[in-house]
Amino acid sequence: MTAAATDAPTVRVEAAESPVAGPTEVDWAAAVAAVRQLPVDGRVLLICHVNPDGDALGSMLGFGLGLRRLGVHRLQATFPGPPEVPEPLRGLPGQELLVPAAEAEPEPDLVICFDAASDSRLGELADRLTGPGTALVLDHHASNTGFGDVNLVDPAAAATSVVAEQLLERLGVPLDAGIAECLYVALSTDTGSFRFDATTPAVHEMAARLLATGISPGDISRRVFDSRPFGAVRLFGEVLGRARLEPEAAGGQGLVWTYATLDDLARHDQRPYVLEALIDPVRCTAEADVSCVVKQTGPDGWAVSLRSKGATDVSRVAVALGGGGHRLAAGFTGRGTVEEVVEQIRAELAVPASGGGIDQQG
Ligand code: AMP
Ligand code: MN
Ligand code: MN
Repeated sequence: MTAAATDAPTVRVEAAESPVAGPTEVDWAAAVAAVRQLPVDGRVLLICHVNPDGDALGSMLGFGLGLRRLGVHRLQATFPGPPEVPEPLRGLPGQELLVPAAEAEPEPDLVICFDAASDSRLGELADRLTGPGTALVLDHHASNTGFGDVNLVDPAAAATSVVAEQLLERLGVPLDAGIAECLYVALSTDTGSFRFDATTPAVHEMAARLLATGISPGDISRRVFDSRPFGAVRLFGEVLGRARLEPEAAGGQGLVWTYATLDDLARHDQRPYVLEALIDPVRCTAEADVSCVVKQTGPDGWAVSLRSKGATDVSRVAVALGGGGHRLAAGFTGRGTVEEVVEQIRAELAVPASGGGIDQQG
Protein backbone atom coordinates (compact mmCIF):
# COMPACT_ATOMS: atom_id res chain seq x y z
CA MET A 1 0.00 0.00 0.00
CA THR A 2 2.99 2.33 0.00
CA ALA A 3 2.17 3.23 -3.58
CA ALA A 4 -1.37 4.20 -2.75
CA ALA A 5 -0.15 6.49 0.02
CA THR A 6 0.88 9.10 -2.53
CA ASP A 7 -2.16 8.56 -4.69
CA ALA A 8 -3.83 11.88 -5.44
CA PRO A 9 -5.53 12.11 -8.81
CA THR A 10 -5.56 15.75 -9.82
CA VAL A 11 -8.29 15.75 -12.45
CA ARG A 12 -11.87 15.23 -11.43
CA VAL A 13 -14.70 15.81 -13.86
CA GLU A 14 -18.32 16.16 -12.86
CA ALA A 15 -20.64 14.54 -15.39
CA ALA A 16 -23.51 16.89 -14.68
CA GLU A 17 -21.41 19.89 -15.68
CA SER A 18 -19.27 18.50 -18.48
CA PRO A 19 -19.93 14.96 -19.66
CA VAL A 20 -16.66 13.13 -19.93
CA ALA A 21 -15.92 12.03 -23.44
CA GLY A 22 -14.36 8.62 -24.02
CA PRO A 23 -11.39 8.06 -26.34
CA THR A 24 -11.50 9.83 -29.73
CA GLU A 25 -10.89 8.08 -33.06
CA VAL A 26 -7.43 9.67 -32.98
CA ASP A 27 -6.76 8.02 -29.60
CA TRP A 28 -7.94 4.60 -30.85
CA ALA A 29 -5.83 4.92 -34.00
CA ALA A 30 -2.77 5.87 -31.95
CA ALA A 31 -3.31 2.87 -29.66
CA VAL A 32 -3.70 0.47 -32.59
CA ALA A 33 -0.56 1.95 -34.19
CA ALA A 34 1.41 1.59 -30.95
CA VAL A 35 0.73 -2.16 -31.00
CA ARG A 36 1.00 -2.70 -34.75
CA GLN A 37 4.24 -0.73 -35.07
CA LEU A 38 6.07 -2.70 -32.41
CA PRO A 39 9.53 -3.66 -33.64
CA VAL A 40 10.13 -7.34 -34.44
CA ASP A 41 10.87 -8.91 -31.06
CA GLY A 42 9.49 -5.79 -29.38
CA ARG A 43 9.26 -6.02 -25.58
CA VAL A 44 5.81 -5.37 -24.13
CA LEU A 45 5.18 -4.82 -20.42
CA LEU A 46 1.62 -4.89 -19.05
CA ILE A 47 1.06 -3.29 -15.62
CA CYS A 48 -2.10 -3.10 -13.51
CA HIS A 49 -2.76 -1.25 -10.27
CA VAL A 50 -1.43 -2.15 -6.83
CA ASN A 51 -3.55 -4.68 -4.89
CA PRO A 52 -5.08 -5.86 -8.16
CA ASP A 53 -8.81 -6.57 -8.30
CA GLY A 54 -10.75 -8.57 -10.88
CA ASP A 55 -10.88 -5.73 -13.39
CA ALA A 56 -7.18 -4.88 -13.07
CA LEU A 57 -5.95 -8.48 -13.45
CA GLY A 58 -8.70 -9.64 -15.79
CA SER A 59 -8.27 -6.77 -18.25
CA MET A 60 -4.50 -7.11 -18.18
CA LEU A 61 -4.35 -10.89 -18.64
CA GLY A 62 -7.18 -10.94 -21.20
CA PHE A 63 -5.46 -8.27 -23.26
CA GLY A 64 -2.13 -10.08 -22.81
CA LEU A 65 -3.61 -13.31 -24.18
CA GLY A 66 -4.91 -11.26 -27.12
CA LEU A 67 -1.44 -9.85 -27.78
CA ARG A 68 -0.14 -13.42 -27.73
CA ARG A 69 -2.59 -14.25 -30.52
CA LEU A 70 -1.15 -11.33 -32.49
CA GLY A 71 2.27 -12.96 -32.23
CA VAL A 72 3.72 -10.72 -29.50
CA HIS A 73 5.97 -13.13 -27.62
CA ARG A 74 8.27 -10.91 -25.52
CA LEU A 75 5.44 -10.16 -23.18
CA GLN A 76 5.28 -9.74 -19.39
CA ALA A 77 2.39 -8.83 -17.09
CA THR A 78 2.99 -7.50 -13.60
CA PHE A 79 1.78 -5.26 -10.75
CA PRO A 80 3.54 -3.35 -7.95
CA GLY A 81 4.05 -4.74 -4.48
CA PRO A 82 4.22 -8.38 -3.41
CA PRO A 83 3.65 -10.74 -6.37
CA GLU A 84 0.68 -12.39 -4.70
CA VAL A 85 -2.48 -12.95 -6.73
CA PRO A 86 -5.61 -13.01 -4.51
CA GLU A 87 -6.84 -16.61 -4.22
CA PRO A 88 -10.20 -15.93 -5.96
CA LEU A 89 -8.30 -14.70 -9.06
CA ARG A 90 -5.74 -17.51 -9.23
CA GLY A 91 -7.84 -19.45 -11.70
CA LEU A 92 -7.65 -16.68 -14.34
CA PRO A 93 -6.21 -17.80 -17.67
CA GLY A 94 -2.95 -16.10 -18.66
CA GLN A 95 -1.23 -16.40 -15.24
CA GLU A 96 1.84 -17.65 -17.09
CA LEU A 97 2.36 -14.07 -18.32
CA LEU A 98 2.82 -12.81 -14.74
CA VAL A 99 6.24 -11.89 -13.38
CA PRO A 100 7.10 -10.28 -10.01
CA ALA A 101 7.58 -6.49 -10.24
CA ALA A 102 11.29 -6.94 -9.47
CA GLU A 103 11.68 -8.98 -12.68
CA ALA A 104 9.74 -6.62 -14.96
CA GLU A 105 11.50 -5.55 -18.15
CA PRO A 106 13.37 -2.29 -17.33
CA GLU A 107 13.10 -0.74 -20.82
CA PRO A 108 10.05 -2.05 -22.66
CA ASP A 109 9.20 -0.82 -26.16
CA LEU A 110 5.55 -0.61 -25.15
CA VAL A 111 4.04 -0.30 -21.66
CA ILE A 112 0.31 -0.80 -21.26
CA CYS A 113 -1.38 0.16 -17.96
CA PHE A 114 -4.72 -1.22 -16.84
CA ASP A 115 -7.35 0.17 -14.44
CA ALA A 116 -4.99 2.71 -12.84
CA ALA A 117 -6.26 6.27 -12.47
CA SER A 118 -2.81 7.72 -11.86
CA ASP A 119 0.82 6.60 -12.13
CA SER A 120 1.09 6.48 -8.33
CA ARG A 121 -1.18 3.41 -8.45
CA LEU A 122 1.70 1.70 -10.31
CA GLY A 123 4.07 2.04 -7.33
CA GLU A 124 7.67 1.12 -8.07
CA LEU A 125 6.74 0.33 -11.69
CA ALA A 126 5.80 3.95 -12.51
CA ASP A 127 9.33 4.56 -13.82
CA ARG A 128 8.59 2.27 -16.79
CA LEU A 129 6.40 5.06 -18.15
CA THR A 130 9.27 7.49 -18.55
CA GLY A 131 11.56 5.28 -20.68
CA PRO A 132 11.96 5.59 -24.44
CA GLY A 133 9.05 3.22 -25.18
CA THR A 134 5.41 4.20 -25.70
CA ALA A 135 3.06 4.29 -22.68
CA LEU A 136 -0.52 3.29 -23.40
CA VAL A 137 -3.19 3.70 -20.69
CA LEU A 138 -6.46 1.73 -20.63
CA ASP A 139 -8.82 2.88 -17.89
CA HIS A 140 -12.33 3.96 -16.89
CA HIS A 141 -11.77 6.27 -13.89
CA ALA A 142 -13.12 9.80 -14.36
CA SER A 143 -10.24 10.94 -12.17
CA ASN A 144 -7.64 9.55 -14.62
CA THR A 145 -4.75 12.00 -14.90
CA GLY A 146 -3.91 11.10 -18.52
CA PHE A 147 -0.43 9.89 -17.58
CA GLY A 148 0.22 7.89 -20.78
CA ASP A 149 1.51 8.91 -24.21
CA VAL A 150 -1.76 7.49 -25.51
CA ASN A 151 -4.77 7.44 -23.17
CA LEU A 152 -7.81 5.25 -23.76
CA VAL A 153 -9.88 6.42 -20.79
CA ASP A 154 -13.63 5.92 -20.95
CA PRO A 155 -15.42 7.03 -17.75
CA ALA A 156 -18.69 5.73 -19.22
CA ALA A 157 -17.25 2.20 -19.42
CA ALA A 158 -18.36 -0.16 -16.64
CA ALA A 159 -14.89 -1.68 -16.42
CA THR A 160 -11.46 -1.31 -17.97
CA SER A 161 -12.19 -4.63 -19.68
CA VAL A 162 -14.76 -2.80 -21.86
CA VAL A 163 -11.93 -0.64 -23.22
CA ALA A 164 -9.67 -3.70 -23.54
CA GLU A 165 -12.27 -5.61 -25.57
CA GLN A 166 -12.74 -2.66 -27.93
CA LEU A 167 -9.02 -2.36 -28.52
CA LEU A 168 -8.71 -6.11 -29.16
CA GLU A 169 -11.52 -5.82 -31.70
CA ARG A 170 -9.81 -2.90 -33.45
CA LEU A 171 -6.63 -4.97 -33.52
CA GLY A 172 -8.55 -7.79 -35.22
CA VAL A 173 -8.09 -10.26 -32.36
CA PRO A 174 -11.06 -12.66 -32.10
CA LEU A 175 -12.28 -13.60 -28.62
CA ASP A 176 -11.37 -17.08 -27.44
CA ALA A 177 -12.42 -18.75 -24.18
CA GLY A 178 -9.22 -17.73 -22.35
CA ILE A 179 -9.50 -14.05 -23.27
CA ALA A 180 -13.24 -14.13 -22.60
CA GLU A 181 -12.90 -15.63 -19.12
CA CYS A 182 -10.46 -12.89 -18.10
CA LEU A 183 -12.68 -10.11 -19.49
CA TYR A 184 -15.79 -11.69 -17.95
CA VAL A 185 -14.21 -11.76 -14.48
CA ALA A 186 -13.23 -8.10 -14.95
CA LEU A 187 -16.70 -7.08 -16.14
CA SER A 188 -18.60 -9.03 -13.49
CA THR A 189 -16.44 -7.83 -10.58
CA ASP A 190 -16.69 -4.13 -11.50
CA THR A 191 -20.45 -4.29 -12.09
CA GLY A 192 -21.08 -6.20 -8.83
CA SER A 193 -22.21 -9.22 -10.86
CA PHE A 194 -24.27 -7.02 -13.19
CA ARG A 195 -26.14 -5.31 -10.35
CA PHE A 196 -24.72 -1.76 -10.35
CA ASP A 197 -26.08 1.14 -12.42
CA ALA A 198 -23.12 0.84 -14.80
CA THR A 199 -24.80 -2.37 -16.08
CA THR A 200 -25.99 -0.94 -19.38
CA PRO A 201 -27.39 -2.84 -22.38
CA ALA A 202 -23.87 -2.59 -23.84
CA VAL A 203 -22.51 -4.41 -20.77
CA HIS A 204 -24.95 -7.29 -21.26
CA GLU A 205 -24.13 -7.35 -24.98
CA MET A 206 -20.45 -7.65 -24.13
CA ALA A 207 -21.23 -10.37 -21.58
CA ALA A 208 -23.17 -12.21 -24.30
CA ARG A 209 -20.16 -12.07 -26.66
CA LEU A 210 -17.93 -13.40 -23.87
CA LEU A 211 -20.36 -16.20 -22.90
CA ALA A 212 -20.67 -17.20 -26.56
CA THR A 213 -17.07 -18.48 -26.41
CA GLY A 214 -18.32 -21.28 -24.13
CA ILE A 215 -17.07 -20.05 -20.75
CA SER A 216 -18.95 -21.19 -17.65
CA PRO A 217 -20.42 -18.28 -15.64
CA GLY A 218 -21.50 -20.56 -12.77
CA ASP A 219 -18.01 -21.95 -12.21
CA ILE A 220 -16.39 -18.55 -12.60
CA SER A 221 -18.76 -16.81 -10.16
CA ARG A 222 -18.43 -19.55 -7.57
CA ARG A 223 -14.65 -19.28 -7.72
CA VAL A 224 -14.45 -15.48 -7.78
CA PHE A 225 -17.34 -14.43 -5.52
CA ASP A 226 -18.75 -17.34 -3.57
CA SER A 227 -15.75 -19.10 -2.13
CA ARG A 228 -13.65 -18.21 0.89
CA PRO A 229 -11.78 -20.11 3.60
CA PHE A 230 -13.66 -20.94 6.80
CA GLY A 231 -11.21 -18.70 8.69
CA ALA A 232 -12.36 -15.77 6.54
CA VAL A 233 -16.02 -16.60 7.25
CA ARG A 234 -15.28 -16.40 11.01
CA LEU A 235 -13.19 -13.25 10.55
CA PHE A 236 -16.07 -11.60 8.65
CA GLY A 237 -18.43 -12.53 11.51
CA GLU A 238 -16.20 -10.85 14.05
CA VAL A 239 -15.56 -7.72 11.98
CA LEU A 240 -19.25 -7.35 11.01
CA GLY A 241 -20.15 -7.76 14.69
CA ARG A 242 -18.32 -4.53 15.52
CA ALA A 243 -19.84 -2.45 12.70
CA ARG A 244 -21.24 0.92 13.79
CA LEU A 245 -24.18 2.80 12.36
CA GLU A 246 -24.17 6.61 12.50
CA PRO A 247 -27.55 7.78 11.15
CA GLU A 248 -26.68 11.49 11.54
CA ALA A 249 -23.51 11.31 9.42
CA ALA A 250 -23.32 12.25 5.72
CA GLY A 251 -25.87 15.04 6.14
CA GLY A 252 -28.35 12.63 7.71
CA GLN A 253 -27.98 10.01 4.96
CA GLY A 254 -26.18 7.74 7.40
CA LEU A 255 -22.76 6.10 7.64
CA VAL A 256 -22.01 2.49 8.51
CA TRP A 257 -18.43 1.47 9.14
CA THR A 258 -16.20 -1.21 10.54
CA TYR A 259 -12.51 -2.01 10.63
CA ALA A 260 -10.14 -4.97 10.53
CA THR A 261 -6.65 -5.02 12.01
CA LEU A 262 -3.55 -7.02 11.08
CA ASP A 263 -4.08 -8.80 14.40
CA ASP A 264 -7.58 -9.85 13.29
CA LEU A 265 -6.06 -11.32 10.12
CA ALA A 266 -3.33 -13.11 12.08
CA ARG A 267 -5.78 -14.58 14.63
CA HIS A 268 -7.82 -16.11 11.81
CA ASP A 269 -4.73 -16.97 9.75
CA GLN A 270 -5.98 -14.95 6.76
CA ARG A 271 -4.29 -12.92 4.02
CA PRO A 272 -5.22 -9.22 3.59
CA TYR A 273 -7.02 -9.70 0.24
CA VAL A 274 -9.84 -11.69 1.90
CA LEU A 275 -10.99 -8.33 3.28
CA GLU A 276 -11.71 -6.96 -0.22
CA ALA A 277 -15.12 -8.65 -0.15
CA LEU A 278 -16.00 -7.33 3.31
CA ILE A 279 -17.48 -4.08 2.01
CA ASP A 280 -20.35 -6.03 0.40
CA PRO A 281 -22.13 -7.22 3.56
CA VAL A 282 -21.42 -3.84 5.20
CA ARG A 283 -22.96 -1.81 2.37
CA CYS A 284 -26.17 -3.85 2.64
CA THR A 285 -27.10 -1.73 5.68
CA ALA A 286 -30.42 -0.15 4.70
CA GLU A 287 -30.10 2.74 7.17
CA ALA A 288 -26.89 4.15 5.67
CA ASP A 289 -26.14 5.69 2.28
CA VAL A 290 -22.39 5.56 2.90
CA SER A 291 -20.49 2.46 3.95
CA CYS A 292 -16.87 2.14 4.87
CA VAL A 293 -14.34 -0.56 5.74
CA VAL A 294 -11.00 0.49 7.25
CA LYS A 295 -8.36 -2.21 6.73
CA GLN A 296 -5.03 -2.05 8.51
CA THR A 297 -1.96 -2.34 6.26
CA GLY A 298 0.79 -1.33 8.72
CA PRO A 299 1.38 0.14 12.21
CA ASP A 300 -0.62 3.30 11.42
CA GLY A 301 -1.62 2.71 7.79
CA TRP A 302 -5.12 1.79 6.61
CA ALA A 303 -6.64 0.96 3.22
CA VAL A 304 -10.07 2.57 3.27
CA SER A 305 -12.97 1.42 1.07
CA LEU A 306 -15.95 3.73 0.63
CA ARG A 307 -19.27 3.02 -1.06
CA SER A 308 -22.44 5.07 -1.60
CA LYS A 309 -25.93 4.03 -2.59
CA GLY A 310 -26.32 7.23 -4.63
CA ALA A 311 -26.85 10.24 -2.39
CA THR A 312 -23.17 10.84 -1.67
CA ASP A 313 -20.18 11.30 -3.99
CA VAL A 314 -17.61 9.20 -2.16
CA SER A 315 -14.93 9.92 -4.79
CA ARG A 316 -15.03 13.55 -3.60
CA VAL A 317 -14.37 12.33 -0.05
CA ALA A 318 -11.60 9.97 -1.18
CA VAL A 319 -9.89 12.58 -3.38
CA ALA A 320 -10.03 15.11 -0.52
CA LEU A 321 -8.26 12.55 1.67
CA GLY A 322 -5.57 11.75 -0.93
CA GLY A 323 -7.20 8.84 -2.78
CA GLY A 324 -9.55 8.41 -5.72
CA GLY A 325 -12.13 6.23 -7.40
CA HIS A 326 -15.67 6.60 -8.68
CA ARG A 327 -18.74 8.45 -7.41
CA LEU A 328 -20.22 5.36 -5.76
CA ALA A 329 -17.01 3.44 -4.98
CA ALA A 330 -13.75 5.01 -3.89
CA GLY A 331 -10.83 4.60 -1.54
CA PHE A 332 -7.81 6.20 0.07
CA THR A 333 -4.90 5.42 2.37
CA GLY A 334 -5.59 6.52 5.96
CA ARG A 335 -3.01 7.36 8.64
CA GLY A 336 -3.26 7.34 12.44
CA THR A 337 -5.77 5.40 14.54
CA VAL A 338 -9.02 3.94 13.18
CA GLU A 339 -10.96 6.57 15.08
CA GLU A 340 -8.84 9.35 13.52
CA VAL A 341 -9.37 7.95 10.03
CA VAL A 342 -13.13 7.66 10.55
CA GLU A 343 -13.26 11.18 12.00
CA GLN A 344 -11.63 12.49 8.78
CA ILE A 345 -14.32 10.69 6.78
CA ARG A 346 -17.12 12.09 8.96
CA ALA A 347 -15.71 15.59 8.52
CA GLU A 348 -15.50 15.26 4.71
CA LEU A 349 -19.00 13.78 4.56
CA ALA A 350 -20.27 16.84 6.39
CA VAL A 351 -19.01 19.11 3.59
CA PRO A 352 -21.97 19.89 1.29
CA ALA A 353 -21.74 18.25 -2.14
CA SER A 354 -21.36 20.35 -5.29
CA GLY A 355 -23.03 19.01 -8.44
CA GLY A 356 -23.46 15.49 -9.77
CA GLY A 357 -20.95 12.92 -10.95
CA ILE A 358 -20.59 9.65 -12.71
CA ASP A 359 -22.50 6.72 -11.30
CA GLN A 360 -19.76 4.22 -11.41
CA GLN A 361 -18.31 1.53 -9.22
CA GLY A 362 -15.23 -0.73 -9.09
P1 AMP B 1 -11.80 -0.58 -3.29
O1 AMP B 1 -12.61 -0.07 -2.16
O2 AMP B 1 -10.40 -0.92 -2.91
O3 AMP B 1 -12.52 -1.68 -4.03
O4 AMP B 1 -11.66 0.62 -4.32
C1 AMP B 1 -12.78 1.26 -4.87
C2 AMP B 1 -12.32 2.25 -5.90
O5 AMP B 1 -11.52 3.25 -5.31
C3 AMP B 1 -11.49 1.66 -7.02
O6 AMP B 1 -11.96 2.22 -8.23
C4 AMP B 1 -10.07 2.09 -6.76
O7 AMP B 1 -9.42 2.35 -7.94
C5 AMP B 1 -10.25 3.35 -5.94
N1 AMP B 1 -9.23 3.41 -4.89
C6 AMP B 1 -9.14 2.61 -3.82
N2 AMP B 1 -8.09 2.95 -3.04
C7 AMP B 1 -7.48 4.00 -3.64
C8 AMP B 1 -6.34 4.81 -3.35
N3 AMP B 1 -5.59 4.60 -2.25
N4 AMP B 1 -6.04 5.78 -4.22
C9 AMP B 1 -6.78 6.01 -5.31
N5 AMP B 1 -7.87 5.30 -5.65
C10 AMP B 1 -8.23 4.29 -4.83
MN1 MN C 1 -9.63 -1.72 -9.98
MN1 MN D 1 -12.10 -0.97 -12.82
